[in-house]
Amino acid sequence: MRRFSLASLVSEAFNAHQGWGRQWRSPEPKASYQAVIVGGGGHGLAAAYYLAKEHGLRDIAVVERGWLGGGNTGRNTTIIRSNYLFDESAALYDHAVKLWEGLSADLNYNVMFSQRGVLMLAHNTHDVQSFKRHVYANRLNGVDNEWLSAEEAKEFCPPLNISPDIRYPVLGAALQRRGGVARHDAVAWGYARAADALGVDIIQNCEVKAINRGPDGAVTGLETSRGTIATRKIGVSTAGHTSVVMAMAGLRMPLESFPLQALVSEPVKPVFPCVVMSNAVHAYISQSDKGELVIGAGTDQYVSYSQQGGLHITTHTLDAICELFPQFSRMRMLRSWGGIVDVTPDRSPIIGKTPVPGLYVNCGWGTGGFKATPGSGNVFAWTIAKDEPHRINAPFSLDRFRTGYLIDEAAAAAVAH
Ligand SMILES: Cc1cc2nc3c(=O)[nH]c(=O)nc-3n(C[C@H](O)[C@H](O)[C@H](O)COP(=O)(O)OP(=O)(O)OC[C@H]3O[C@@H](n4cnc5c(N)ncnc54)[C@H](O)[C@@H]3O)c2cc1C
Repeated sequence: MRRFSLASLVSEAFNAHQGWGRQWRSPEPKASYQAVIVGGGGHGLAAAYYLAKEHGLRDIAVVERGWLGGGNTGRNTTIIRSNYLFDESAALYDHAVKLWEGLSADLNYNVMFSQRGVLMLAHNTHDVQSFKRHVYANRLNGVDNEWLSAEEAKEFCPPLNISPDIRYPVLGAALQRRGGVARHDAVAWGYARAADALGVDIIQNCEVKAINRGPDGAVTGLETSRGTIATRKIGVSTAGHTSVVMAMAGLRMPLESFPLQALVSEPVKPVFPCVVMSNAVHAYISQSDKGELVIGAGTDQYVSYSQQGGLHITTHTLDAICELFPQFSRMRMLRSWGGIVDVTPDRSPIIGKTPVPGLYVNCGWGTGGFKATPGSGNVFAWTIAKDEPHRINAPFSLDRFRTGYLIDEAAAAAVAH
C-alpha cells in the first residue's frame, strides 16, 4: 500500500492524484477465520488492527452491517479526555490518550488529533466540589487536570459568559490541556487502512444474524447476510446494538440503549479555541476545522433504536449554549442527527470475556467511547488474543454486575461524556 509522505504527496501532485489506489480491499468473506470482530466502528477496527499488529493474528475479519464508521463513530462530537475520577477509569482513558498522541504516525494516517484543551464548567457548589475532587484524584494518577477560576476560564476561552446573573453561572472550571478532539471518520478509515495492510479482511454490508455454538457451548461461527463464517473467537463491538447481537448467543446484557443527539452550525471563521463541556446542562461545544460549531446534547430519557431524539433535548442544549456564549445566538444550525448509545448501570464500559467460551464483548461506552477508541481496541485485542483480560480492562468485566465491584463514574460525574 502506498505510504502517505511529503514525497508521495509531491509526486501525486504531478500525477493529478490518480495513483493513490484504494485505501482498503473489499474481499468476499472466507469460509473461516481465526477470529471475527463484529462491528466496523472505531473500536472494532482498532481491535482488529492491534490483533494483527501486536498479537500476530492475521487471519481475521471485521464484519460490518453497513459502512465503516456509520454507527456512533461517525456521529459523535469527538471529545477526548482522560480526567475520570476512579483509578480504573483514569488508567483506561489515559492509556487511550497516550495512544492518540502517536496515532497518526502509527497508522500513517492523519486522524487530526488536536490537543486544544477540554474545559468542564462548574455551575454550582456540587460541581465545584466534584471537579476539585477529580483534579486531586487525577494528579495522584499522573493525569493532567487543573482548577481554573471563572476569570481564568474566560481567559482560556474568551467567548465564555461569566456574568453571575445567568441561569447557569460559571463558578470555575476544570481544564485538561491534553484533552481535545480528533476527526472521527479519519479514525475509522485510518484503522481500516492499517488493518487491511496487515491482512485483515474488512467486510462491509455484512450483517450478523446469528451466533453458532457447539455442543460444549463454545462459539463455532456466525450466520451473516453474506453466508456462514466459521470461527472459534468472536469479538462483539456493536455499541448501541450490543444487546441484540449478544442475545444471539443467549446472553442478556446489563445495558439500556438510548438516542443521543448532536448538531452542527453553519461554518464560521475560527472563533472557539477549545472544547467546553457543561455536564450540569448536558451541553458540549467545540469548533471543527471546517468552521462548524459542533454541539452535543444529553441522552433522551426513553430507550429507543430510532437514531433520532426529541426536539426538546436539543432546544434545551441550545438555550444553554446561547446563554453561555451569547455571540452564537444568531447562528443557524445546519444538521442534527442521533446515534444509539449503550449505557451500563454504572456508566463504565464492559470489555472482556463472557460466560460463552470464545465470545468477547466490548460495549457500554454510552455517551463517551470515542475518546477511548485506541485504548479500548488495544486491550480488547489483548483479551481476544490471550483469552484473558489485560490488567487495564480486568476491572471492566461483565462479572462486576454480579460481584458488585462497580466503577461508578455515573455517581462520580453524573455524565460519562
Ligand atoms: C451524538 C453522539 C455524540 C457523542 N459524543 C462523544 C464525544 O464527544 N466523545 C466521546 O468520547 N464519545 C462520544 N460519543 C460516544 C461514541 O460515539 C461511542 O461510544 C463510540 O463511537 C462507539 O464506537 P464503537 O466502534 O463501539 O461503535 P460504532 O461506531 O457504533 O460501531 C458499531 C458498529 O456495529 C455495527 N453493527 C451493529 N449491529 C451489527 C450486526 N448485527 N452485524 C454487523 N455489524 C453490526 C454498526 O453498524 C456499527 O457500525 C457520542 C455518541 C453519539 C451518538
